Amino acid sequence: MQKYDVIIIGAGIAGLYAAMNIPKSKKVLVLCKDIPWECNTFYAQGGMVSALDNNDISLHVEDTLNAGAHHNLERVVQILSETSIEITADIIKKGMQFDTDSKGNLLYTKEAAHSTARIIHAGGDATGRYLHHFMMTQNPHLLEQNMLVYDLLIENGRCYGIKAMSSYNPVTIYADNVIIASGGVGSLYEYNTNSRTVSADIHGICAEKGIALKDMEFMQFHPTVFVKTPFARKLLLTEALRGEGAHIVDEDGKRFLFDYDNRGELASRDIVSRSIFEYKRKTEKEVYLDCSMFKPKVFHARFPNITHTFSSLGFNLPHDRVPISPAFHYANGGIACNSHGIVPGIEGLYVVGEAARTGVHGANRLASNSLLEGAVFAKRAVEHMLGLDSHIGKIPKFDKDYDNILHKDNDKKYKRRLRKIMWEEVGIVRTTQGLHHARNLIYDMKNHEIGRLLQLRLNTASAIVDAALARKESLGTHYIEDDDQDI
Ligand SMILES: Cc1cc2nc3c(=O)[nH]c(=O)nc-3n(C[C@H](O)[C@H](O)[C@H](O)COP(=O)(O)OP(=O)(O)OC[C@H]3O[C@@H](n4cnc5c(N)ncnc54)[C@H](O)[C@@H]3O)c2cc1C
Repeated sequence: MQKYDVIIIGAGIAGLYAAMNIPKSKKVLVLCKDIPWECNTFYAQGGMVSALDNNDISLHVEDTLNAGAHHNLERVVQILSETSIEITADIIKKGMQFDTDSKGNLLYTKEAAHSTARIIHAGGDATGRYLHHFMMTQNPHLLEQNMLVYDLLIENGRCYGIKAMSSYNPVTIYADNVIIASGGVGSLYEYNTNSRTVSADIHGICAEKGIALKDMEFMQFHPTVFVKTPFARKLLLTEALRGEGAHIVDEDGKRFLFDYDNRGELASRDIVSRSIFEYKRKTEKEVYLDCSMFKPKVFHARFPNITHTFSSLGFNLPHDRVPISPAFHYANGGIACNSHGIVPGIEGLYVVGEAARTGVHGANRLASNSLLEGAVFAKRAVEHMLGLDSHIGKIPKFDKDYDNILHKDNDKKYKRRLRKIMWEEVGIVRTTQGLHHARNLIYDMKNHEIGRLLQLRLNTASAIVDAALARKESLGTHYIEDDDQDI
């Protein structure tokens, strides 16, 4: 029998920072479904928020609440901001190198809806890559890759462990505590910026077991994404570009965003995404990100990752304009938990990072708050868990298994259909009729011969649609174009 003190599902910032805070003396398994760097953390570009000093905390809280349409839990936002200085100091003390000036002072950038420059970054625009590499080297525990969790062992209000496919073999592993750090829901959407590993499996398991998912109607769309590639993961152009001066223009060079909001490119993400979506629909014009105001040398040094990636696609940045579209980017909602990551009603189960709904983001995440959220609340969850020191007693029998039925023949077809319907009907602009249409199609797919993993995706998709239908008025990222409730 395999048994650990702690199992951590996911090896992004939330999972790895949780692992870094658990002493080596504990028997811990960190696992991820693919290679470790296939996660959203690795792809993060812009940076991580860190309040500048104690005076900046109230301003950071205010910016976060304003971006989140005041749907956030203010107490939790306060924790995020107050803890940010200590968390950044801890990461730096352990050896992480953020970008600094020649005197060693941290360099801060600004992104949309921040009232000041308070975002630290690394490798220019490769913050996620640097952070992930650093945390991988700091993880003192066993890390298993190619291990895909497809069930949580839950009975009588207690979590006993997981069932997973480990390099194609089913395994059952028990643990005193399980920390979910499995990220968001990107693969549900046709156009998304997320890693292919981020596919809402664990959300789907939670929905199946009656564990609450909260704020699921608030899915965030990033305004500046290059979607004209054949790959599932579409290429992001960080918000820091606009924060540092890039413009959004139509094919005639018009900065049309000012027709929608007087902050133009610096309005919050939901507003910029919706404005681009509506402008394209109204005018049928192409929309571009224009970086030509940057000096090439400065641009190449500050955004080396974007320069390189787009050069391989034939763009000469900053000279060339890049055609852009909004795309799904981030799940503001998730598995309900308190500010210690405790999943209510289930002993021994925690959730951290993008998978969690802590209440920090409200109806729309403020840029670069998510890496910080992952670190802050992972540490709090671990502190709580170590303090409680809870153990599993007699283990019940968990004999339901899903061997060889994780995938079925039709799954690919239905996955594609799901991604399309989520993009078209549960995307940036929603209608009641469209949401009902999505709900029916999802229900119909659930009644076909499908594999377990698709079933889990459909569970999560249902939770998003149901939450969107339940919220009749627009708020933050949930924008409903009509209020037709008679359908
Ligand atoms: C392109 C891009 C740019 C971004 N830029 C920024 C930024 O500049 N600043 C910022 O703050 N945020 C940014 N974000 C958001 C931020 O990166 C994520 O919210 C954050 O990294 C999530 O961390 P996480 O640890 O919760 O999840 P992830 O880093 O996504 O890790 C999820 C882990 O869970 C594992 N997993 C998932 N399902 C299973 C399963 N069933 N079984 C086993 N393992 C599983 C995966 O393999 C992976 O290891 C960006 C996101 C993207 C996509």
